[in-house]
Amino acid sequence: MKKQIAILGSTGSIGTQALQVIEEHPDLYEVYALTANNKVDLLAEQARKFQPEVVVIANEDKYGILKEALADLPIKVYAGAEALCQVVEAQPIDIVLTAMVGYAGLKPTINAIKARKTIALANKETLVVAGELITALASQYQTPILPVDSEHSAIFQCLEMNNPVHKVILTASGGPFRTFTMEQLQTVTKEQALKHPNWSMGAKITIDSASMMNKGFEVMEAKWLFGVTPEQIEVVVHPQSVIHSMVEFEDGAVKAQLGVPDMRLPIQYAFSYPKRESLSGERLDFAKYHTLTFEKPDTTRFRNLALAYEALHQGGNMPCIVNAANEVVVAAFLKDQISFLGMSEVIEKSMAKVPFIKTPTYGDYVSTDAETRRIAAELVINGMK
Ligand code: NAD
Ligand code: MG
Repeated sequence: MKKQIAILGSTGSIGTQALQVIEEHPDLYEVYALTANNKVDLLAEQARKFQPEVVVIANEDKYGILKEALADLPIKVYAGAEALCQVVEAQPIDIVLTAMVGYAGLKPTINAIKARKTIALANKETLVVAGELITALASQYQTPILPVDSEHSAIFQCLEMNNPVHKVILTASGGPFRTFTMEQLQTVTKEQALKHPNWSMGAKITIDSASMMNKGFEVMEAKWLFGVTPEQIEVVVHPQSVIHSMVEFEDGAVKAQLGVPDMRLPIQYAFSYPKRESLSGERLDFAKYHTLTFEKPDTTRFRNLALAYEALHQGGNMPCIVNAANEVVVAAFLKDQISFLGMSEVIEKSMAKVPFIKTPTYGDYVSTDAETRRIAAELVINGMK
């Protein structure tokens, strides 16, 4: 039986690479649903090629265009955020790949867990915002959450059945500003930030990588995926991005997963787990990498990493506040409305201003997200004056 896959965010960086994996293994995987936010032409093109049962465009204004583009095909076409949340529940779906960006991933992921679909989780924001709720639901509904993020996939690939983890070591490339001084960081532009040295990704995660918020989020993601404490998570800067992450066991043994930077591998592993399947593409050539280097991360220059650790220690709705404020400032930075270092300032102020809730419900996350967006947007505007 072919595995039926729903891809949320099929037009993005992860989504398009997931379709490449599926194309390489037509005997193993079939696309059941494709969804996107805005890119209606690409979504229609993908639907024509992969013939899913259902497509959903989140932006309802684009419904007419999509419907017309697929009029000659027997594909169901829906629009809107609610349709996107419902489509994941369809009975035939085996795996839901959450490859959309940001807080928008939370609700459909909750629905998919409740419908007992295996989650291939790329959307780390879901675990950042509501890790406690998501992991509790996953265990209640006995739904596996398999990591797609390369670091977490690496850790997942290193785990041993009967041996507890002593420590997980997350590698970080350090991004394009790894060697920049504080003074240089003051004037960096979005064009510079969008040039990641090793990975080609969507705009939001590329900015998060440059600011190291991405690594802060990955620390939170690791906590929830692997049930470790913040003290058991170490970040090490490794500019070559060859070691994707590591696990240290109780006897001091360290296991690492290595490979060329290529997201198709962790995507495919989440689809094929527990098996491995063939995958085309470049292989690791050690002659090309004669030096692998490691450094400690600098939380003074990359303040977001410290803020993320702070949010992780406080728990409750604090990571949700950091996520929402970060989404606001990244969008503002991409519109040249805030400076690179200004982003951390707004996040820190939002953390102080939004009311703290120790044990949030789903409703509390929704209101925290909305309230934080309002406050952070105000702070951005005040900063511009
Ligand atoms: P992207 O910007 O390239 O693509 C995002 C996709 O989500 C698009 O298909 C878009 O249509 C859809 N989308 C955006 N907003 C939406 C909304 N409100 N409702 C519904 N759909 C929406 O992003 P990406 O780089 O593919 O990243 C996707 C997720 O995967 C992010 O959470 C990111 O952190 C994570 N991730 C990405 C990479 C990578 O290499 N790109 C690596 C690890 C983790
Ligand atoms: Mg990653």
